[in-house]
Amino acid sequence: MATRKPFVGGNWKMNTNRSTGSDLARGVVDGLMTLDGVDTCIFPPFPYLLTIRAILRDRGSAVRLGAQDVFHQPDGAFTGEVSIPMLKDCGVQHTLVGHSERRQVIGEKDELINKKARALLEAGCDVVFCVGETLEERQAGHQEIVNARQVRTGLAEIPASLMERLVIAYEPVWAIGTGKTATPQDAQEMHRQIRELIARMYNADVASRVRIIYGGSVKADNAAELFAQPDIDGGLIGGASLKTADFVTIVKAAAEAGRAKP
Ligand code: PEP
Repeated sequence: MATRKPFVGGNWKMNTNRSTGSDLARGVVDGLMTLDGVDTCIFPPFPYLLTIRAILRDRGSAVRLGAQDVFHQPDGAFTGEVSIPMLKDCGVQHTLVGHSERRQVIGEKDELINKKARALLEAGCDVVFCVGETLEERQAGHQEIVNARQVRTGLAEIPASLMERLVIAYEPVWAIGTGKTATPQDAQEMHRQIRELIARMYNADVASRVRIIYGGSVKADNAAELFAQPDIDGGLIGGASLKTADFVTIVKAAAEAGRAKP
């Protein structure tokens, strides 16, 4: 069994409705009922959190509930936003911050992402912190600089003691929802660089324990090879998390990869 327990997230994005989301959650729960050796979390849209929580609870599932975003202020005049206490109230354990669609489409900057990550961790919540370069940045050979900037700024003032609650998701923007997956070797190389950076920012112990997962067109048929890489500790799954059988296969591949690692 690997020293780092694999983590797989299913990011449903702005998909599903109450009925299809419930069916999907039931299918995932049933498909993973007897599985251990992996942490699994599904991230439904905000309006369905309570419905999905009820399904997870009723079935006594170990599958966790996640939120796709949050606002860092505890309450007040922030129309349209959702606070950390609200998420906790709905039974949310993990929250995505810095997803590339928030960065690219909504325009979130590193500084705001840092505020969200810090507020969540300080409130005792778990964070899936996403980073990744665009196609232009990769073509210019800037992927290392870009990911390092996102990690350094996004994790600023987060102490080592809170890093236990944080999972880093490396998600190259050019691979998200495009069907173009990073090669296992390219993904491994970026994960290795991020882990080295965490060692420099914190220490070797934090770096060896932090889970770094890959996201970007992970599918049932390419998951095992990606997750077998030494520094890839699971995945953040978009499109394939909307298909019950595919998501279950991907989670099982992560558990299997974890068992095979030293
Ligand atoms: C994602 O939403 O984080 C993601 C990786 O999407 P996809 O798997 O569809 O590329």
